[in-house]
Amino acid sequence: MSAAPSESGTPPLVLLVEDELPLVRFIEASLTSAGYRVLHAASGAQATRMATQYVPDLVLLDLGLPDVDGLTVLATLRVWFRGPILIVSARGQERRKVEALDAGADDYVTKPFGIPELLARIRVALRHVAREATRAACTVLENGPLRIDLEARRVTCAGREVHLTPIEFKLLLTLARHVGKVVTQRQLLEDVWGPRSTEETQYLRVYMTHLRRKLDPGPSGPRLFSTEAGVGYRLESIEDTGA
Ligand code: CA
Repeated sequence: MSAAPSESGTPPLVLLVEDELPLVRFIEASLTSAGYRVLHAASGAQATRMATQYVPDLVLLDLGLPDVDGLTVLATLRVWFRGPILIVSARGQERRKVEALDAGADDYVTKPFGIPELLARIRVALRHVAREATRAACTVLENGPLRIDLEARRVTCAGREVHLTPIEFKLLLTLARHVGKVVTQRQLLEDVWGPRSTEETQYLRVYMTHLRRKLDPGPSGPRLFSTEAGVGYRLESIEDTGA
């Protein structure tokens, strides 16, 4: 699947911030053949400069950079940059991923990652931007078999009405507003239970079990929720059939 054009009608511009040159060449080649335009920055300082100069549609940001910490680059970009920022992090850096997500990153991939996974995450992030633009007027959220009517507070899954408690509804809604992207445990706890409950991760485990049971689309249906161990949860973005 190739890249959908950006708002301006040109192929989306990705700023790749990475200092490992073999990986840069590999990602660059893959993104280019998938229809993206790619700019490369090998340091944090260069990334900040290039982002300001070229205003990319999406930033792919490695956390381990030679000059400054990737989280610092993220914070600098987030002051003004509204597009998606995807973090590239090493395995076992769950805390750093959580910090990055809480600091405004949209999603992450963990090294070593496959190109199909990277392309899928990029597509989801860019699609999210497009959806966000129309979302304000929208009172129904749809994702695969799932349909959430915000005004009627009514949820259906594969046409079957599902009764959710207010907490379950709020949790589902928080995930649905970030469909396709991981939402950290802290974000979920804060949005659903309030700022005093950010350590109560057992609430989440219990209520995610409820949601999974109630919204099970059946053995032939797509998987709706995934657990990102030590990080958070994701409502998988299910591409419309035929789109
Ligand atoms: Ca690196």
